[in-house]
Amino acid sequence: MNHADVYRDELARFVAEMRASQRRVVVVGAGRGGWYTAKVLAHFQVPVDAWTDSNPKKHGMLFDIPVMPMAQAVERFPDACFLPSVLDAANYPPVAGTLDAAGARDIRYLMPDILFSYFSDVTRRACGPEALAKTIARLYPEPGSPAPCRSPSVSYVITQKCTLNCQDCGAFVPDNAKPVTYPASRIVDDIAKYCSAFDVVHHIALQGGEPFMHKEIEEIVEGVSKIPNLLFIDFVTNGTLVPKASVLDAMQRHGACVIVSDYGPYSSKIAQLAEACAGRQIFVDYYRYQGNDWGMQTPIYPRKRSPEKNAEVFTNCIANTMICCQIMNGKVHRCTFSNFTQELKLIPELPGDFVDVGKYQTGCAELTAEIRALANRKSALSACDFCPADNRNFVPAGIQLPKSKRKQPRPIQPVNDGCS
Ligand code: SF4
Ligand code: SF4
Repeated sequence: MNHADVYRDELARFVAEMRASQRRVVVVGAGRGGWYTAKVLAHFQVPVDAWTDSNPKKHGMLFDIPVMPMAQAVERFPDACFLPSVLDAANYPPVAGTLDAAGARDIRYLMPDILFSYFSDVTRRACGPEALAKTIARLYPEPGSPAPCRSPSVSYVITQKCTLNCQDCGAFVPDNAKPVTYPASRIVDDIAKYCSAFDVVHHIALQGGEPFMHKEIEEIVEGVSKIPNLLFIDFVTNGTLVPKASVLDAMQRHGACVIVSDYGPYSSKIAQLAEACAGRQIFVDYYRYQGNDWGMQTPIYPRKRSPEKNAEVFTNCIANTMICCQIMNGKVHRCTFSNFTQELKLIPELPGDFVDVGKYQTGCAELTAEIRALANRKSALSACDFCPADNRNFVPAGIQLPKSKRKQPRPIQPVNDGCS
């Protein structure tokens, strides 16, 4: 039996059992995995009786279903079937252990089956069920099978244009007098080439600027949806725009999600966006900033640190500890700073810091080796010497520059900030 049949079969048996026995069902985790679980169970008319979540802020009601602490759910529904909605399989054993300790008698881990069903029954990933099942099987390998080569966290800048003008923008929007929007065909081709270097890519974060300013979202989402070894397609928005109905329909059709960077009063359309997505069953999550958690932008210049100091800066940098890549205009970079400062010519081009995927055929061995080497790189980038990563002040997110300061070039000159 192939993976698609296994997932279909396992879920069909569970659905039949729940319908026949009319057992209570409790979804463990009121986050993204829980959302997929609830949507799939609703699709098969299996009612959910409760959610549990360890975050007290989530307790209350979700989709008219109560959210409560795990111990309370176990006490209230002792004979229920508990479904942990853990997206990362490595986190399943601790969750199952906690459920077990709380007294839950029936714990089932169906996340791979749920995801397969979400992307093939509730939505329709254009890569087709067999490729989808193979991707899910690589993300959730059987015990003892070889670990797949997974991509790190990866984003793609589909447009440099933005509706906001944040003073400390990591994409250097205020510095960019001629923001570029990349054609859908180029974007899809670049992402497909990047994905071909790995066995499996967990997600792509499509961002800007403001991605919903792009006029070809439908083409992009459809093209990316065809990539066989990529699972989640996320749009990272600032919450100032609501895409038109046909765009939202395309996103729904291909199971794309929305992640909102919430800049408070500047993210003026969050409520309308959330409502439009809820009406189409598009998952929305929020990144909410608190206090001073944005690194302040400073003038850009060579710090002239020693190689040892730059190595230390890189080692301690979040781009290294989180391990991520960013793609724009056909080039894969290790971080946003390297990407934007080189693309906008705020620093010289540093060819050793990026992979130009335009030079390679999709899936060729050299491209795979180059991208994997960049993603796994443990030594400092040349761009690190221009980066204020080790010495910057922190400010609240989303401070807007006045309109008169739009598109003013940032002064590229040394300041006495202790770096040099
Ligand atoms: S919303 Fe602000 S931080 Fe984000 S890209 Fe636009 S200007 Fe930059
Ligand atoms: S340039 Fe270096 S120090 Fe700066 S964000 Fe990138 S990896 Fe980190």
